[in-house]
Amino acid sequence: LSEKEEAVLETIDEENIDFLRLQFTDILGTVKNVSVPARQAEKAFTEGIYFDGSSINGFVRIQESDMRLDPDPETFAVLPWRSKEDGGAARLICDVIDTSTGEPFSGDPRGVLKHAIERADDLGYTVNAAPEPEFFLFEEDEEGRATTKTNDAGGYFDLAPKDLAQDVRRDIIFGLESMGFEIEASHHEVAQGQHEINFTYDDALSTADNVATFRSVVRAIAAEHDLHATFMPKPIARINGSGMHTHFSLFQDGENAFHDDDDEFNLSETAKQFTAGILEHAPAIAAVANPTVNSYKRLVPGYEAPVYVAWSDRNRSALIRKPAARVPAASRIEARFPDPSCNPYLAFAALIHAGLDGIEQGMECDDPVRENIYEFDEAKREEYGIDTLPTNLGEALDALEADEVVQDALGEHVTEKFLEAKRSEFNDYRVSVSEWEKDRYLETF
Ligand code: GLN
Ligand code: MG
Ligand code: MG
Ligand code: MG
Repeated sequence: LSEKEEAVLETIDEENIDFLRLQFTDILGTVKNVSVPARQAEKAFTEGIYFDGSSINGFVRIQESDMRLDPDPETFAVLPWRSKEDGGAARLICDVIDTSTGEPFSGDPRGVLKHAIERADDLGYTVNAAPEPEFFLFEEDEEGRATTKTNDAGGYFDLAPKDLAQDVRRDIIFGLESMGFEIEASHHEVAQGQHEINFTYDDALSTADNVATFRSVVRAIAAEHDLHATFMPKPIARINGSGMHTHFSLFQDGENAFHDDDDEFNLSETAKQFTAGILEHAPAIAAVANPTVNSYKRLVPGYEAPVYVAWSDRNRSALIRKPAARVPAASRIEARFPDPSCNPYLAFAALIHAGLDGIEQGMECDDPVRENIYEFDEAKREEYGIDTLPTNLGEALDALEADEVVQDALGEHVTEKFLEAKRSEFNDYRVSVSEWEKDRYLETF
């Protein structure tokens, strides 16, 4: 056993842990877990835990279903909503191994992200990422089902008593901190019932693990307050939706390769090429970063979510923004299109590969757009050469099918399974009839 693994075994003992949840995510980003008695921990580290992958979304066919989970000891965390007295529970995030080859399973999203990180590493870069996940807190009805009734009427950065969710947010933050998160800030977002909690940047893999953890912690602790937390991108029409802006920087030999003192925006050539790569591949990345039918209800003008493929050092209508940075280490770019319904491993992998493609091809960035792009008409957009993001999931899937770089980022297995699942989701939507249509047409025709 490694030193870290030994330390985990010790903590299991000290903290009176009875059960270990071995977690991984499926292609759609849902966290799956296999629970094993804590005394199996040593075996889990030395031999892995075998499971049947055939019933996991987008994994494998029945005849090739034997998978192994290899827990990553770095991800050990005690679950805060289980009490130590009754016997606690802890989780470990795992890599999925294909037992027929002994190699990482190509359908494991965490493996897909590791691949992207290795490619960056080959070029001498460490990838740092920091997300800003937003979510809504809604009341539950008598049967405990989620409603879209918010439990407060607060707005951007409001304080109590209007911000009734403060207690919930505080419990969420304590829960996250006990699991090792370093929380930077939390605030009430623009919309009623909408919140944001920011945690410190980390390497891209840890950050993706953190996003997956974050979503389950927020949901579990909200539920303790009889509230439903949702990461659905646009739960309520005509008010702000929930994004998951993600900040990226590349470090080389301990220095921020995105920073340049002499540049007007303090952005290095490398940062601009990375940005150009993301802009170039944005429509295909959207399929992964904005993977639901509902995602495209958020990406409309007027609600601080991007619609147009451009970058800016100022305004928030752009797809990529250069946030102000006080110190060189903080120079970074902010991708504003991802939303919290994405599978963070796949979305980060697509963004990283696209950015690295920009670097490898030496792509160039246009000048930043400083005006509010929402107000541009088509002629002006044409003059500036600004494209738009896909307007629905179907278009995004078409873009993914036409983009080899993003397909390579996901790998053949994930691309195929992802397209299959998402085409079917989009078709299901196409044949459904919405409340809006009934309201609009039922009595008119
Ligand atoms: N909610 C907005 C979005 O959808 C972002 C608002 C903000 O963080 N200023 O991206
Ligand atoms: Mg923010
Ligand atoms: Mg925000
Ligand atoms: Mg932001």
